[in-house]
Amino acid sequence: MASEGEEESSQSESGSQDYLFKIVMIGDSSVGKSNLLARFARNEFYPNSKSTIGVEFQTQKLLIDGKEVKAQIWDTAGQERFRAVTSAYYRGAVGALLVYDISRRTTFDSVGRWLNELHTHSDMNVVTILVGNKSDLKDIREVPTSEGKSLAEAQGLFFMETSALDSSNVTEAFYTVVREIYSILSRKVF
Ligand code: GDP
Ligand code: MG
Repeated sequence: MASEGEEESSQSESGSQDYLFKIVMIGDSSVGKSNLLARFARNEFYPNSKSTIGVEFQTQKLLIDGKEVKAQIWDTAGQERFRAVTSAYYRGAVGALLVYDISRRTTFDSVGRWLNELHTHSDMNVVTILVGNKSDLKDIREVPTSEGKSLAEAQGLFFMETSALDSSNVTEAFYTVVREIYSILSRKVF
C-alpha cells in the first residue's frame, strides 16, 4: 500500500519513532505570537495579554500523513521588546513562524531584521512561514495582503494571514510549517 518513497523514508516500522520538531515564534512585540500559540494549542485567546505572558515552549501533537509528529513550539517571554532574543532560543529550530501585525506597518518593516537574526542563529535551512496576524482588523489594515505575499515569495517563505482572535488560518499556519519539515525530513535532506 505504501509507495516506495514512503517505505524508504519510514524508520518507524515499529511505529515507535518520534518526530520532535522545534519551532520558534518570532516577530515584534504585540503582534500576537503568544495568542497564536494559545489559540493553536489550547483554543484560547487573551484580549489584553501582556507581552510577558507566555510559556517557554509548548509541545503539540500533530497528525501528518497519519503519523504523529510532535512540535515543540517556543514562544518568547517579551524579550523581543528589547531585541534580546538569545541564541539559545533559536538553537536547534527547524521551523519558524515570523509574525507581523497587518494593522501596524512598523511590524512588517521589521521582518527583514527578524530574518537576518534567524539566519544568524540557526545553522539549518529553517522552514519559515511569514504570518500576517490580526486579519480581523480589516478597517485599520496598514499592510495589504499583496505586500506580505510578495515579500514571502521574494524570501522563499510560506505566507498566510491569520487571526488569533477569530481563529482564521491559525491551525493551517502551524500545519504548513510542520508538514513541510516532515516532508523534507522524510526525504532525508536534513
Ligand atoms: P506577542 O507580544 O507577539 O506575544 O503578542 P500577544 O499575543 O501578547 O498579543 C498582543 C495583543 O494583541 C493582545 O492584546 C492580544 O489580545 C492582541 N491580539 C493578538 N492576536 C490578535 C488578533 O488576531 N486579532 C486582534 N484583533 N488582536 C489580537
Ligand atoms: Mg508574547
